[in-house]
Amino acid sequence: MTLKIGVIGTGAIGQDHTRRINEVLAGARVTALNDVNRANAETCQRQYAPEARIFDDPHALIRDADVDAVLVCSWGQTHEEYVLAAVAAGKPCFCEKPLATTAEGARRIVEAEQAAGKRLVQVGFMRRYDPGYVALKKAVSEVTGAPLMVHAAHRNPRVGENYVTPMAIHDTLIHEIDVLRWLLDDDYTSARVFFPRKSPRAHEKLRDPQVVVLETAGGVVIDVEIFVNCHYGYDIQCEIVGEDGIARLPEPMGIQTRSGAVLGQPILMDWKDRFIDSYDYELADFLKAAAQGTAAGPTAWDGYVAAVTADACVAAQEAEGQAVSIDLPARPSLYA
Ligand code: NAP
Repeated sequence: MTLKIGVIGTGAIGQDHTRRINEVLAGARVTALNDVNRANAETCQRQYAPEARIFDDPHALIRDADVDAVLVCSWGQTHEEYVLAAVAAGKPCFCEKPLATTAEGARRIVEAEQAAGKRLVQVGFMRRYDPGYVALKKAVSEVTGAPLMVHAAHRNPRVGENYVTPMAIHDTLIHEIDVLRWLLDDDYTSARVFFPRKSPRAHEKLRDPQVVVLETAGGVVIDVEIFVNCHYGYDIQCEIVGEDGIARLPEPMGIQTRSGAVLGQPILMDWKDRFIDSYDYELADFLKAAAQGTAAGPTAWDGYVAAVTADACVAAQEAEGQAVSIDLPARPSLYA
């Protein structure tokens, strides 16, 4: 059986996922496209899905009999509405991060999925599918012993004028929030944010760099440097310090050179290249589960926890070094 997929939001990532489904992965075809900007949907149709129909109404796309599962790749503010509609229609739904732009919105999705009685939502936290992070998780269970500390960094060469201080949490740290919780199999209890001297490359409305310190229920202390005007590259670092040893995220593959008295290795500049394989793996996982009428991978609960944690981190930015507690309700049995 070929799974029929409807894609809402056909900008950068929506087009790339359409290409992935139709040209890279097996078992599914994109049959329906929607975007507020119809020109984007037409471009997507022309380049990657000539047989797909374009819908003006995203809710009509979700209801359509020729759509078995839905990808939500539109602006973050619209995700909650479309995911709730897909769950109400009983259709598996892959939602790009964020699941919702507020914790209450993510909570509504968790409640709707619980009412549906089965998993229907996968959140696009693709780092869990990155072979480097998968190997790091294995090293935590087999080599390092129980984790004590995590040192991580998320560095971008530069950001635009519209990227303001809270976006360092909601758009950038959000990936560490999810993947570190998954790596440690632990929940956060508090957040603090420290601002070193501001980089002269950061524009007026952005405090950059910043350091977020998270504590977990298991007593692990995590520091994450966010530096989005580092200039030199897109650089993701993660080191786990455990009772018996240390494990580091591997560097992306690159040719090592020896020349002119320098041992060199290139550093990526574009975030799109860093986790390129993990997008294939996460969507393959989605399609496999959706063919069974359910969802796999990062859950709506993970999306909710990420939203609660991100809100606490933004409050911690404003609290200037003071700890902000992160309080979560008990995990529902659907997500055990
Ligand atoms: P983008 O290029 O701006 O594309 C978003 C598309 O959605 C645009 O075509 C936009 O129209 C359209 N749109 C806006 N409101 C809509 C609505 N109400 N209904 C349907 N379509 C609507 O952005 P993007 O980079 O693809 O990002 C899309 C989402 O994916 C964001 O939530 C982002 O955080 C997430 N994302 C995740 C990753 C990851 O690493 N997991 C990477 C990239 C993006 P206009 O052209 O008129 O703006």
